[in-house]
Amino acid sequence: MRLLLVEDDTMIGESVQTGLRQDGFAVDWVQDGRAAELALETNPYDMLLLDLGLPRKAGLDVLTALRRRGASLPVLILSARDAIADRVQGLDAGADDYLVKPFDLEELAARIRALLRRQSGRADPVLQVGSLSIDPATHQVSLEGKSIALSAREFALIHALAARPGVVLSRAQLEEKLYGWGHEVESNTVEVYVHSLRRKLGTEFIRNVRGVGYMVPKQA
Ligand code: CA
Repeated sequence: MRLLLVEDDTMIGESVQTGLRQDGFAVDWVQDGRAAELALETNPYDMLLLDLGLPRKAGLDVLTALRRRGASLPVLILSARDAIADRVQGLDAGADDYLVKPFDLEELAARIRALLRRQSGRADPVLQVGSLSIDPATHQVSLEGKSIALSAREFALIHALAARPGVVLSRAQLEEKLYGWGHEVESNTVEVYVHSLRRKLGTEFIRNVRGVGYMVPKQA
């Protein structure tokens, strides 16, 4: 899952980016409101993590413009403004959640997972595809009750596909979900991970739709 973090405080930005990357998210980080808008126009994100006090364009203005354009991606505000009026204003401007600084990284990651779950119309925190179960919180994957060890990228790939069963994702879309900025992506990377996942999970969970991409079938 690929997130855009908008945060002008370098210390907070670095620690959030590092922490969420360790949690398996691809995280792009920008430090002002205009850079945020440019990034949102040019990259597909699964979620926006938005500070309010930002140079060049305020977070609330970024959010308002985003919703006016009809963008539906989940937005989580991260702000030191803790007054009830600020939280109400942020949520009423179209944010889906509001976390007051300083916050705990574990709580942030849990809120992100909750928003991604709701975005995809699920309530159950564990993804189930037939006999395969995927837990985004613990990164545990099991097949017929037996635990399967996956690398971080393998997990990210099967998670991205299983979060939207029946939907074909192209190689480019999968690369977007696996890597943020600053990563060199080898041209056959996705194929390599698909191959190793099939070796570990069996071939029925990841279908190759020739010329289009990959999908996890609804009923595997
Ligand atoms: Ca700020």
